[in-house]
Amino acid sequence: MPRTALIAGNWKMNGLAGDLGFFGEVARAAADSPADILVCPPATLLALAAKTCSGTAISVGGQDCHARESGAHTGDISAVMLRDAGADYVILGHSERRADHGESDAIVRSKAEAALAAGLIPIICVGETQAERESGQAETVVARQLAGSLPENPQKMELVIAYEPVWAIGTGLTASEADVAEIHAAIRKRLPEPLTTRILYGGSVKPANAESLLSLADVDGALVGGASLKASDFTSIIGAVGR
Ligand code: PEP
Repeated sequence: MPRTALIAGNWKMNGLAGDLGFFGEVARAAADSPADILVCPPATLLALAAKTCSGTAISVGGQDCHARESGAHTGDISAVMLRDAGADYVILGHSERRADHGESDAIVRSKAEAALAAGLIPIICVGETQAERESGQAETVVARQLAGSLPENPQKMELVIAYEPVWAIGTGLTASEADVAEIHAAIRKRLPEPLTTRILYGGSVKPANAESLLSLADVDGALVGGASLKASDFTSIIGAVGR
């Protein structure tokens, strides 16, 4: 089943209005790419980024949302608000949110349901810690996170899964191709037919390793943190799709 690759940038808590020139630099590569291109800037830049990207092949997304549509939740942002600001996607359950904000699988699932109801495509992140990998638990942990974080009947909605081993995020360490292939195949096996759900790899993806990671079976794209902050790096990762 052919799936359109997705190259998604996660700016995390980085980016000011003066950085929006990034999109002009990436727009040509996005237009020429067979992949879907997404950038998730901080919420403060979302509406501006959406306006800047209008008419280009770049989509924008949020990095988190609240499970409720509105209400007394100071500092939080709902899926409906993200959509209103121009988002098409939202990253959910990133390991930094799971660790820094105590997000459980159940919370991630309720956020995913809210995102889908608002018309957003959730990118649901899963991945094991270094200790879990070293004790042979990687696949079990990922399976448990998937079972708890995915909404019911995931094949009936458009969502994306990102496999991001926690120890590979922002560390410069990348999972071996064999490990990535193994976990992606295990995730794919757990998804019901039809197999249209895209599975991204994330964890220190950079220009030097993008081509080999993106050529693996069951790797339908990449979630890119650090290397999405520099237009030339992100552009060269986009250029690695289908090479
Ligand atoms: C991420 O934040 O999702 C990520 C994969 O970061 P990095 O590419 O910097 O490892």
